[in-house]
Amino acid sequence: MSTDTFDVVIVGAGSVGLPTACFLAEQGIKPLVIDQFASAGQGSNKAAIGGIRATHSSPAKIRLCLESLRVFSTWEQARGDNIEWARGGYAFVAYREHERAALQNLLKAQQRAGLNIGWLERREMLELVPALCAEGLLGGTYSPEDGSASPMLSAHAFYRRASELGVTFRFQERVTGVIRRRGMVVGVRTDKGGYATETIINAGGAWARAVANLAGLDVPVVPDSHEAGITEPVAPFLKPMVVDIRPADGSANYYFYQHKPGGVVFCITPDPPIVGTDRRETSSYLPMIARRMVGLMPCLANIRVRRTWRGLYPMTPDGSPVVGRSKEIEGYIEAVGMCGQGFMLGPGVGLLLTRMLTGRETEADAETLKELTPYRAFAGAEALK
Ligand SMILES: Cc1cc2nc3c(=O)[nH]c(=O)nc-3n(C[C@H](O)[C@H](O)[C@H](O)COP(=O)(O)OP(=O)(O)OC[C@H]3O[C@@H](n4cnc5c(N)ncnc54)[C@H](O)[C@@H]3O)c2cc1C
Repeated sequence: MSTDTFDVVIVGAGSVGLPTACFLAEQGIKPLVIDQFASAGQGSNKAAIGGIRATHSSPAKIRLCLESLRVFSTWEQARGDNIEWARGGYAFVAYREHERAALQNLLKAQQRAGLNIGWLERREMLELVPALCAEGLLGGTYSPEDGSASPMLSAHAFYRRASELGVTFRFQERVTGVIRRRGMVVGVRTDKGGYATETIINAGGAWARAVANLAGLDVPVVPDSHEAGITEPVAPFLKPMVVDIRPADGSANYYFYQHKPGGVVFCITPDPPIVGTDRRETSSYLPMIARRMVGLMPCLANIRVRRTWRGLYPMTPDGSPVVGRSKEIEGYIEAVGMCGQGFMLGPGVGLLLTRMLTGRETEADAETLKELTPYRAFAGAEALK
């Protein structure tokens, strides 16, 4: 084993690992980040469509994403990189009583957790999104401070900043073992060697369960495939991300927005889920989502799709992430199970981990960690996962 020693080893240079490395380095902690792929963000991060919302039903996720929103929205001003941040807000639309009640029932808890969100009646929703199909529309929620950014540009910005601050990255290297002594982490083994460390953060995304297994632990992260696509760019016509939570044949929900360069980026949640790690895209989902999107927004019938892709959601049974220290192995931390929201959760989780490792945890952090603990029952379900 090499004699290289690091304060922290982060397994995974993805949506969570990259901002975490950045924020740790800003506090003088120099992590080693190891990733099996050839460069930063090549796991699920590059499949994300860029939506960033604090609109969740879980107080922990709201808190983390409010922090993420602060990072994304000030990044260009503070650090100079254009990550295509745009504050378009999120609109969850309701066409049936069922969705209206479900969305309205969440409002109080969301507002209590600090989210700026309100109910828009039909007329107000149509003013915000004139292209929506008016027939049957009842209204919806709108959270104006949510937004979007490019996952690729963001990953690159976090990677560059972390590198400038002295973080070491090892790509095309796979972690194959977690070395423990007397119940404590002492290092990691990889397919190319090994490193000494007293702290390991599992940020392994869809592959996180296998990483936990290397430490003799288990974490209920099961990946499933989601498909997305982008159209040709057109003149600006759509401000917020539109989310339609009505289930239909073959899909649980779908969401789309117009990103800064003008393309409409969209994603669908297949139903039943396509469990596994297959990232080869298909074309079979396109007719299904096209039908749904054109039904909701008829003008989209005239726009051409340029590209589709497929990626993985690292799902947990209750739709919330797993973040926290292991009770069995000192120095081992989970930051996994980001489900369909890892890009938006990444900076918030990174800041939380940084406070944990620098002894600056707040009361709110304690609440967050209690909710996201690896030792919870995984009984409930996040309503907007
Ligand atoms: C189609 C689609 C659309 C999405 N849209 C959004 C969106 O709009 N907003 C949003 O917030 N989220 C979105 N997501 C979800 C988001 O992409 C994921 O939740 C997020 O990328 C997970 O982040 P992560 O850091 O946990 O995993 P990743 O970004 O996948 O990073 C994990 C890394 O760990 C590495 N790794 C794992 N095991 C090992 C090992 N043993 N050795 C070395 N390296 C290892 C992997 O190579 C990988 O690079 C979307 C996902 C998909 C598929």
